[in-house]
Amino acid sequence: MDIFVGFRYNRIMARILLIEDEAAIRRMLSEILVGAGYDVAELTDFGNLDDLNRGVEGSGADLILLDLGLAGLSGLELLRRLRQNSDIPVIILTGETAEAKELLAMGYGADDFVSKPYKPELLLLRIRAVLRRTLERSRSDIYSFAGAKIDLARGVILHQDHRTHLTKNEMIILRQLLEERGKIVSRETLMTELWNNQEYINDNALTVNVSRLRTKLEKIAGKNVIETRKGLGYSLVEAEHGE
Ligand code: CA
Repeated sequence: MDIFVGFRYNRIMARILLIEDEAAIRRMLSEILVGAGYDVAELTDFGNLDDLNRGVEGSGADLILLDLGLAGLSGLELLRRLRQNSDIPVIILTGETAEAKELLAMGYGADDFVSKPYKPELLLLRIRAVLRRTLERSRSDIYSFAGAKIDLARGVILHQDHRTHLTKNEMIILRQLLEERGKIVSRETLMTELWNNQEYINDNALTVNVSRLRTKLEKIAGKNVIETRKGLGYSLVEAEHGE
């Protein structure tokens, strides 16, 4: 499926929940999403809103595609209920562009909309944009590490009176290591994260970037602060001070 090639390295891993009552459309959407590397969950019982609401809660979804035209039920009402206790991003599926625009403007809590007939490229772009916004919103940008303050919004490490500046690649790598500190972060994860941020570097460049970052961190946190785990990846280790 050539159409998906351009998305493969740009995707954000996520589970997407489909709420669409027409099985044929659901199947089509599911194929598009799975083809783009997303994990897809579907609701298939459209008996009542309570069941749907419970289905959403149990889905573990990172994003919902919600059809407004559910037979006999109101997609809008479902959205309203959902918003009472969840801020999971929702993209509205609709045949009525004007209605969807109004709905976004009225603050019902939808994040975006896609009009029928669905163009796969457009749908995937919208999904990626919404996921990216959500991820960025949920990420804190200030970390403390080994007595230093790391401000990833500004790309700077503040330690005592010193400021160490980070390159964009180093910021992306360090964020990942900080979020998974103590655990092994695979090279593949780091590459994907760099790609997601439109930084296209190869395997060797990753090694170079990690070793530059390690040098910068060693001034603050001592030797081997980024451990190389051969064949596995890297791990950020917080050593005792003075080591
Ligand atoms: Ca429908």
